[in-house]
Amino acid sequence: ANSTPENIWFNGKLCPWQDAQVHVLTHAIHYGSSVFEGIRVYETPRGPQVFRLQDHVQRLFDSAKIYRMNIPFSQQEIIDGCKAAVASNNLNSAYLRPIAFYGDVGLGLTPPDVPVQVAIAAFEWGAYLGEDGLANGVDVCVSSWSRLAPNTMPTGAKAGGNYLSSQLISMEAKRHGYHEGIAMDINGMISEGAGENLFVVRKNVIYTPPLSGCILPGLTRDTVMQFAKAMDLEVREECIARESLYLADEIFMTGTAAEIVPVRSVDRITIGDGKRGPIAASMQQKFFGLFSGKTIDEWGWLEPVKSS
Ligand code: PMP
Repeated sequence: ANSTPENIWFNGKLCPWQDAQVHVLTHAIHYGSSVFEGIRVYETPRGPQVFRLQDHVQRLFDSAKIYRMNIPFSQQEIIDGCKAAVASNNLNSAYLRPIAFYGDVGLGLTPPDVPVQVAIAAFEWGAYLGEDGLANGVDVCVSSWSRLAPNTMPTGAKAGGNYLSSQLISMEAKRHGYHEGIAMDINGMISEGAGENLFVVRKNVIYTPPLSGCILPGLTRDTVMQFAKAMDLEVREECIARESLYLADEIFMTGTAAEIVPVRSVDRITIGDGKRGPIAASMQQKFFGLFSGKTIDEWGWLEPVKSS
């Protein structure tokens, strides 16, 4: 369960949680006109550190650019706001949710000519698909819903409206007793989970769907690809057919919330040995090692919440 944070960064300053409010006629509520991020802060021996903060803030601004939305703050101000949100709530680990949205009151569809509002919430959050999922794998299904087509709504933008698609996918999966659903793209090839990118391992080669307009360019996806390079493992960005899931030696999903989670079955077909595979395990080890100090952060991905 999420604990309620004491303070939220709202339009440039920290304010008490209950004061960070919008009107019921807020444009973003009616039309999905928001862009947002999910960022994790990990407890480390050197104090709380934000993971890939600059890359997440860059993606927030990229999402805004796609929608011609002007965020009335600099990237540095958002970075500082993220840190302030964590520090002011005395959190050692956190999930950060920066969101930029049209807050205008009125029912016009085109984005109103008013300053975009920005909020940053920080709260405690455990493993998204459960600790058991991280250790033993999760059961997923291929969704009856397809992911957005590239010429409908851009999946490269992390926009509020996109998450109606994700909600349909994950609600259907949970209704049928799965942990998560995986969507195909409009060509019938595998795209991504409701909130995770996907990796498939066969004969020691790692496959993942390409950045072809049908997935979010996940930062955990990128992290795993860089780990693979460091570990001399081959990664191929290729279209993946549904049956390749069933025949995989290993599958794992990646996301800021989900972290690196093995998949033990797809559509009730057991994947590999039906438990966490060796490549997923080594990726997890490298990933969580960044925060325990066992993995040297040669990429400069960690950034302290408090400047020392
Ligand atoms: N795909 C979708 C649809 C997502 O919502 C997320 C979570 N942000 C991801 C992939 C994974 O992205 P990241 O690793 O940057 O969190």
